[in-house]
Amino acid sequence: MVQISLIIPVYNEEEMVPVFFNRVEKVLGGHFSYEYVFVNDGSRDATLKVLKALAEKYKHVKVISLSRNFGKEAAVTAGLSEAGGETSVVLDVDLQDPVELIPAFWEKYQQGYENVYGLRSDRSEDTFFKRFTAQFFYKVYNKLADFPIPYNAGDFRLLSRRASQAVVSLPERDRFMKGLFSWVGYKSVAVPYSRASRVAGKSKWNYWQLWNFALGGITSATSLPLKLWTYAGVFMAFLAFMFALWIAYQKLVWGNPVSGYASIMVTILFFSGLQLITLGIIGEYLSRIFVEVKQRPPYLIDEKINF
Ligand code: UDP
Ligand code: MG
Repeated sequence: MVQISLIIPVYNEEEMVPVFFNRVEKVLGGHFSYEYVFVNDGSRDATLKVLKALAEKYKHVKVISLSRNFGKEAAVTAGLSEAGGETSVVLDVDLQDPVELIPAFWEKYQQGYENVYGLRSDRSEDTFFKRFTAQFFYKVYNKLADFPIPYNAGDFRLLSRRASQAVVSLPERDRFMKGLFSWVGYKSVAVPYSRASRVAGKSKWNYWQLWNFALGGITSATSLPLKLWTYAGVFMAFLAFMFALWIAYQKLVWGNPVSGYASIMVTILFFSGLQLITLGIIGEYLSRIFVEVKQRPPYLIDEKINF
């Protein structure tokens, strides 16, 4: 059994794969026994060809090719479930996760840690907007979730065999990996690093995808947004009742005519808005339950090489 399986999801990364490979060979070669588990996530460019050429030459390069693009979370799951090493290290192919940190991860593993994650101490390569929204997401998530995720921890981490098997065994389709990694627990420790810029190619995320990713993360970690409305409803009903008493009192004691249109409009609009938000939140959960109920596999494998 090799010491480290490198789990590398790749999507349209033809120019990054060789660069990544050379870097890993330089840093880990001769120091560790390791294997690559590249997961080709339905790339449309020559990524698979590049991977196949590598796998032909080097037996420790293993490739899983998925039947289409399933997204990074599914690709990482596929890699973890096929990995054969004593530990698994999840990392991006774009070298934003420094390969140089892996020996430090391994050292922590030797000390008994089974969930060793990289912590971005510096996100200066991100735009202000991305940093701000990311910060906000972590705040909200950690307020709501039962199992907080550390600020600025990415997917970049080392997992012991039993920790990675535990992650793979979680059956959900909506796989917010950071949440799953923290859910399985085991002895965890952070290793800080500063995140570099992408070496080549460009990020596959746009803001709409990030928003949905964040929603997925939150809805899979907590049902609090669903339950909140019971209390909001009780509170509002109480206010309405008090207000009704107040109106009756005004009418009976002072004989005031009941004043009208504007306040009714505001109330109707306010409550319609509130109800739509509530319905929307229920919809968010319902759509995810729908996906889970269908019980489709999170990914399909087209081809495995060097296994
Ligand atoms: N990736 C993937 N499937 C996707 C999108 C991305 O396997 O649908 C891979 C990608 O090739 C890279 C990693 O996930 O190795 C991180 O992607 P990216 O650099 O675009 O994300 P960012 O660093 O901007 O968060
Ligand atoms: Mg990247």
